[in-house]
Amino acid sequence: MTTSIETLEFQSEARQLLQLMIHSIYSNKDTFLRELVSNASDALDKVRLESYRDKELDADTADLHIAIEVDAEQRTLTVRDNGIGMTREDVVSLIGTIAKSGTAEFLRKLKETQDSAASQDLIGQFGVGFYSSFMVADKVTLVTRRAGSDEGVRWESAGEGTYTIEPAADAPQGTAVTLHLKAEDAEDHLFDYTSTAKIREIVKKYSDFLTWPIRMAVESPEEGAPEVETINSMKALWARSSSDVTEDEYNEFYKHVSHDWQNPLETFRLQAEGTFEYQALLFIPSQAPMDLFMRERKRGVQLYVKRVFIMDDCEALMPEYLRFVKGVVDAQDLSLNVSREILQQDRQIQLIRRRLVKKVLSTVKTMMAADAEKYATFWKEFGRAVKEGLLDDFENRDAILDISSFPSTHDAEEPTALKQYVERMKEGQEHIYYMTGDSRPSIENSPHMEALRAKGFEVLVLTDPIDEMWVDAVSGFEGKQFKSIAKGQVDLDTEDEKKTAEEQQKDFTELLSWMTTTLGESVKEVRLSSRLTTSPACIVGDTHDVTPTLEKMYRAMGQELPQIKRILELNPTHPLVTGLKSAHGERAEDAGLAETAELLYGMALLAEGGELTDPSRFIKLLATRLEKTL
Ligand code: ADP
Ligand code: MG
Repeated sequence: MTTSIETLEFQSEARQLLQLMIHSIYSNKDTFLRELVSNASDALDKVRLESYRDKELDADTADLHIAIEVDAEQRTLTVRDNGIGMTREDVVSLIGTIAKSGTAEFLRKLKETQDSAASQDLIGQFGVGFYSSFMVADKVTLVTRRAGSDEGVRWESAGEGTYTIEPAADAPQGTAVTLHLKAEDAEDHLFDYTSTAKIREIVKKYSDFLTWPIRMAVESPEEGAPEVETINSMKALWARSSSDVTEDEYNEFYKHVSHDWQNPLETFRLQAEGTFEYQALLFIPSQAPMDLFMRERKRGVQLYVKRVFIMDDCEALMPEYLRFVKGVVDAQDLSLNVSREILQQDRQIQLIRRRLVKKVLSTVKTMMAADAEKYATFWKEFGRAVKEGLLDDFENRDAILDISSFPSTHDAEEPTALKQYVERMKEGQEHIYYMTGDSRPSIENSPHMEALRAKGFEVLVLTDPIDEMWVDAVSGFEGKQFKSIAKGQVDLDTEDEKKTAEEQQKDFTELLSWMTTTLGESVKEVRLSSRLTTSPACIVGDTHDVTPTLEKMYRAMGQELPQIKRILELNPTHPLVTGLKSAHGERAEDAGLAETAELLYGMALLAEGGELTDPSRFIKLLATRLEKTL
């Protein structure tokens, strides 16, 4: 058999990322070891799990561990595991390419960033995993063999665009990554990574909690011969009492489970004793992942059973709207080969999930009261996801409303909590007013807002697509109903104003019924408005009508909808409207009046950002009118 060394190219994103690592200005270079050890630990989790699942798998699980080997003369550092290993295809796809979502976006931002502190920050946000080896090594060799397979693979690269790959005879099960270290340069934060003291320090700092032994040969002072020592305590953080665990330890554990490089925004724990015992250690990240709204997104909670890793992305433990919560749940009384299907039906798991959800929501509520700035970050990053819960999680709807905040006319910058809105409500105000739309300016400038503004009512400005949905599903907050200012009747009038309105109604009866007939193709009804002060007219939906934005969304999704006719409301004090009324009183048969009615309708449509069905006709009518004024 001829041995074949193949030279392959990195995918272009991978190449760019490697360049970045080789010339890294990232000052915390020690983190490369955290990444390698974290990958090794994942690989051990996987092999144990697969051998449970697949009794046929010929894997050796007798002494699963991580070994760190240093060679001061050769200046190499090796991180070895006897875990799941990789096939040749795995190596090409997992190491030769970057499948991480948001890579392109990250690289684009990085290119735009000139300032080095900002690019450090970006690297920290993105996390670079295995490639971080190239911060400290000018060549990396990886030898691996997939458990159950007898073909080993040797991969090597200097990070410059290509790598070589060839079969490796006699490779043991698992993966060994050998770094050919760059010269020591303390000024550049490149330390001596062949020093066992340094390795011990880094492992203690970043990987102490890993439940697999990390072994290293250390010189014993007496005999001179090296002896192998386990250098991590192997204590699962969630099993230690909270007072024993430092914030740094929690942060490092978070980075291991989440593959994030930043510290979490919030850390919290939960435990239950008795018949169904479990511990949970959960985190809220400080930044939303780039794929939070993508279809392939995963949930972030891992399931352990009696300290043994069972699965990532355990959807049975966290509802979709809380998919950003990361962490671990360790249950004592489940079977080790429990499957996703079984979990979905398991009553105990459902109970755990209910408690976890309540805990997440109460943690945010506490954060809201204790640390406004932290809460603001939370809401900016995850609010859009949380609002999905208003549709999906009926049981916790009130608790979700409690921790939600919304942009409002009260303050141009800061969103408001509903509680604060309710506290500011005017005497006699019965509803929480809101308007949905594409953007804040389009809502603020809409005619519907006029009277509310004039009378000093606060309106929630809802511009997320999800807002269109939950406002219909949720009835109210603390007994106050949500009310769209663009739908149904908005009753803002005082008793006096009501009297005037009744009289106006009588005056306008004829005009209104004539216009309702004239515009019958386009609108359901023409009526007088109490929401306008300066505009002549506006269009409103019936209380249960689908909003125009929602209508657009449904149509974009390919759904067939019947034409939705809405209501045209007229401002009874606007000169154009009063003028039309008297003209109609004098010469009802004048064909020009119908055109004016049509123009009024067109203007109202444009004012809400809608589209005219026949723009050229509208322009012709308008041009004719304008000519007459010259
Ligand atoms: P991440 O760990 O966030 O997925 P990495 O860049 O650290 O990203 O690793 C990329 C992938 O390479 C891992 O997801 C894993 O599939 C594979 N890998 C890396 N190191 C090992 C290892 N020691 N054993 C098995 N697979 C590994
Ligand atoms: Mg990794």
